[in-house]
Amino acid sequence: MSLLERAEAQYRSLRLTATANHLASLLAQAEANELSYLNFAQLLAEHELKERTHRRVTRHLRQAQFPSEKHLEAFDYRHQTTISKRQVHALLDFGFIDNRDNLVFIGPPGVGKTHLAIGIGQKAVQAGYKVLFRTALDLVEDLELAEMKGELKKRLNQLSKYDVLIIDELGYLPMTRQARYNLFQLINSLYEYRSVILTTNKDFTSWGEFFHDDNVAVPIIDRIIHHSQIFMLGGESYRLKQKSST
Ligand code: ADP
Ligand code: MG
Repeated sequence: MSLLERAEAQYRSLRLTATANHLASLLAQAEANELSYLNFAQLLAEHELKERTHRRVTRHLRQAQFPSEKHLEAFDYRHQTTISKRQVHALLDFGFIDNRDNLVFIGPPGVGKTHLAIGIGQKAVQAGYKVLFRTALDLVEDLELAEMKGELKKRLNQLSKYDVLIIDELGYLPMTRQARYNLFQLINSLYEYRSVILTTNKDFTSWGEFFHDDNVAVPIIDRIIHHSQIFMLGGESYRLKQKSST
């Protein structure tokens, strides 16, 4: 075994995989640039850290289960004028996550609610936060299944491991009383502890109706709205716009 191979194996056993994998090229780089010992030591550390961050972000992006890639850069504020680029960019310091605030996007179909939720979610992952994307329907099914298995508590705990839970499309479909109750348990366990990004087609005034005005629904709404930034989106559907322009 050469000295290089031995060093690589040692780095590997220290779990410094990125360094182990690129040791030869890092050495060549150091020689070509006549790096000082200290600069070389720093180069190795920097390389390892960069690779680790990259791997973590890739893993968290996968775990977030975004239904599609929606980049904020692709969002057209000339079409969607009821929210400004400035308002969206102000969210990207992620103070809302650190303060456990919620974001609520309300509006009719096609106005960009899901696009914004995913776009902000992706940026949050890149900034080091853990995010999970779920439609309200998925979430309700997920909780129902957990409840049937007697594992609701456990599932709620798992869901509160994420810094941000995106709940997409609340209000599109009716829910049973049990579903509302489970959802309340979830919102309750996240309240003032984690952030929720919620998209909905229902204005708060019709939420009572959607939730059948029952004593479970009102606290859900209260808890989501308390500490939240609410964005009312309007305008015409982007989907229709695309159809008519082709
Ligand atoms: P909503 O969730 O409000 O129903 P979506 O976010 O799913 O709407 O938007 C519908 C489609 O139109 C998506 O493919 C989305 O990427 C696109 N879209 C919506 N608004 C915009 C916009 N302002 N700029 C670019 N694409 C947009
Ligand atoms: Mg949507």
